[in-house]
Amino acid sequence: PLILSVESSCDETAMAVTDSHGVVCASVVATQIDFHARFGGVVPEIASRKHTEAIVGVLEETLAQAGAHFGVDTLAPDDLAAVGVTAGPGLVGALVVGVAFSKGLCAATGLPLIAVHHLEGHLMANLFETPDLKPPFVASLVSGGNTMLVHVRAWGDYEVLGATIDDAVGEAFDKVAKALGLGYPGGPVISKLAEKGNRKAIHFPRAMMHSGDYSFSLSGLKTSVITYINNENRAGRPINLPDLAASFEAAVVDVQVAKAVTAVEQTGVSDVCIGGGVSANPALREAYRRRFGRMGVRVTVPPLAACGDNAAMIGIPALRSYLAGDFAPLTLDADPNAALGTWSSPAAPVPP
Ligand code: ATP
Ligand code: MG
Ligand code: FE
Repeated sequence: PLILSVESSCDETAMAVTDSHGVVCASVVATQIDFHARFGGVVPEIASRKHTEAIVGVLEETLAQAGAHFGVDTLAPDDLAAVGVTAGPGLVGALVVGVAFSKGLCAATGLPLIAVHHLEGHLMANLFETPDLKPPFVASLVSGGNTMLVHVRAWGDYEVLGATIDDAVGEAFDKVAKALGLGYPGGPVISKLAEKGNRKAIHFPRAMMHSGDYSFSLSGLKTSVITYINNENRAGRPINLPDLAASFEAAVVDVQVAKAVTAVEQTGVSDVCIGGGVSANPALREAYRRRFGRMGVRVTVPPLAACGDNAAMIGIPALRSYLAGDFAPLTLDADPNAALGTWSSPAAPVPP
């Protein structure tokens, strides 16, 4: 069976085709970044409209790419076995476009519909790197809208150990970049600058690092960086951008690593992984590898192409649900605040 997966939770319109072994036969990501960049962040109303404009073209391109994979011109909807769609969390108006489109496709073709949780997709993207990754393990989910530490007791059985009480990590990167006039999204540009900077140049607070729980707070760090920028500007001192970027990034990374180490120790697991857009950050990837390497804990990070939003990652939980026979009714609604675990299929066979 071939599963079409659809992702439209934020500012990427993406689709993929996955076969029954989990092989990605096609993956198309149409990003809207250029339309949001001048606003310094995603504008929800623009995101919805751009999804509507892009979605048919993305389907055609995905079916053509999958066709090429099988040596034919293009696949037809008839060649598919099911449609999986991100139903939440995310921007409600953006989610609705992918969900309505998928419901329409299923209504027209008779294909079964599968609902997928966006963060379960980010989490399972680690299987592209380590196919034999097995629970229990600990996962740091760090993205534009979420920051949480999860004890994955089994696939579909998620204990959220803690989460951010204010901003998400990716959001902090985006806001710092915006304050520096570096555009959107901030993560890639800040991490590029940070490569040439000194992480110890400026001391920024490691909020809640020793709070004794698994909560995170990022808004104070963002404010500290902005205060620093304003002070330097007022004093007429030039800002060393690489040092600033590296010092900010170090404050983020240190807290993520410290809490993940505690979580790994308390749960006694021997695997840890990262997921979400910020998992593309080289300093974060390296810090996990180094710190957990010393502990003999295996670290998995998603391939770079699967870190940001894409539909190939949505194809993994979609295929699991398909194999378990967990389908969604055509009355499915997008849920912008869906908790991790919603629409999971704990009974599904191990990820193919
Ligand atoms: P969520 O997954 O929580 O719904 P989202 O889908 O909008 O949010 P993602 O696409 O998963 O977010 O991740 C985008 C975020 O990742 C942005 O905030 C972006 O700045 C950040 N990001 C991307 N690359 C990097 C990087 N190299 N370093 C740090 N952050 C990065
Ligand atoms: Mg995005
Ligand atoms: Fe995401």
